[in-house]
Amino acid sequence: MFRGVQNYNMIDGIKIGLEIHCQLTSLQTKLFCSCHCDYHGKLPNTNVCPVCSGLPGTLPLLNQKALEYAGLISLALDCKIPNETTFYRKNYFYLDLPKNFQLTQYNVYGITSIGIDGKLEYDGIDEEKHARIRRVQLEEDPGRLVYENNDMDSSFYTLIDYNRAGVPLVEVVTEPDFTTPKDVRIFLNKFTSIVEHLEICDTKLEGSVRCDANISIGEGKRIEIKNVGSFREVEKALSYEITRQKTMSTHEIEIKAETRHWDDTRKITKQSRVKEEEQDYRYFQEPDIPTVILGNEFLSSLKTKMPELPNDRKNRFISDYKLSEHVSQVLIDNKWLADFFESAVKIYSSPKEIANWIVSDLMGFIDENNHHHNSQASMEEKRSELKVEARHIAELARLVDQSNISRNTAKMILNQIITTGEMPSQVVERTNSSKIDDKGLLSEAIESVFRSEKSAVSDARLNSKAANFLLGKLMQLTKGRADPKIALDLIKKKLIEPD
Ligand SMILES: [Zn+2]
Repeated sequence: MFRGVQNYNMIDGIKIGLEIHCQLTSLQTKLFCSCHCDYHGKLPNTNVCPVCSGLPGTLPLLNQKALEYAGLISLALDCKIPNETTFYRKNYFYLDLPKNFQLTQYNVYGITSIGIDGKLEYDGIDEEKHARIRRVQLEEDPGRLVYENNDMDSSFYTLIDYNRAGVPLVEVVTEPDFTTPKDVRIFLNKFTSIVEHLEICDTKLEGSVRCDANISIGEGKRIEIKNVGSFREVEKALSYEITRQKTMSTHEIEIKAETRHWDDTRKITKQSRVKEEEQDYRYFQEPDIPTVILGNEFLSSLKTKMPELPNDRKNRFISDYKLSEHVSQVLIDNKWLADFFESAVKIYSSPKEIANWIVSDLMGFIDENNHHHNSQASMEEKRSELKVEARHIAELARLVDQSNISRNTAKMILNQIITTGEMPSQVVERTNSSKIDDKGLLSEAIESVFRSEKSAVSDARLNSKAANFLLGKLMQLTKGRADPKIALDLIKKKLIEPD
């Protein structure tokens, strides 16, 4: 069956694999030297030292904490951890690489990466799916190239900033197990939530999680797609590639192995270079970093440091707070939201009510006018505008639970306090918007509705269902403040009274 734009689900033999690069932004220092890991907002080429700028005679010293973080990702992705690990030089000449080689790991002459043979399950569009993880490895980020107007093709110059050179990256390589671009996006969101829960990467920082993809269809050769700015763009780039490769095979044009770049403005992929073969990199083991013995001690120390992961947290939300599977999933997909929820519940224990305000109204506000491509980034941007804190939502839930305000009023109040940060009770007091449950006041208002809606009153006397129309009018008159249950009782009583 076709499902809207997802109709390429139908094409057989689509194989998509991912290479995810995740910066370990929670670290203090770079991977092999003591320069700051956080290079954001620094003047170009000020966050460098002889080691990360590759001066002769310097020696790299491995950051042990980076090793631990890469181990945590590996375990969270269900990988096996080998007994020892080593580093390799990947030699290539490119201007973002001051040493002319990148220190990375290489599994050809034996397993040297930190994790291998893992898997991650995710909720695919039709069913529960999983992608196999080929390897998790530690490597250094190259420098950053800066072009005029961010456009490599038209730029008159290239500037090089080595502040990023040597920042610790974890590379996660999946097997080509994905068959639709949509699944890729779901998987990437899940991966992001995992590294957030491990607290090893601040995913809202620009460029902290980057993803390259490779795709082949049927007998066609493998195409790599690079330079994709966000997860949403990864999905678009893959959809574009599927259409392009399908059209080529229809016209019997051979698809050659190549690397293509995603053009964010024109929304197409462009050929960038013919793919290097692995042997072009002349890998060899880094002689200045001894083999690191990992062993059981490493593994057991990782297990003691492993925090609660999104899946366990979701199950806990379902069992402890009695939330639905869907609501729990929405909350844990973003660690910040899940934390927000739990802080509010600590203040006032009404989990269902609080989850409901967060998932429907707060998320609604965050999603509104969402022009950003990267959902993480846009959420972050909106979050900085948010003045609402856990205590606000907790109080709102309490006011509704204790019938101080109607649900409609609460919604109105939330819309205000999201950007003002005023406490809900203050708004209730200031705007005099507490619920009207006083029978005297309600009866007066009902009198007035009966006077102005004479024909509706006659209808309602014959057909009691029409009483709801009168209730609606009463709600209008009281700006949603009337207690609907008490009011409807009063209306029904008044309808059977003689005129
Ligand atoms: Zn350095």
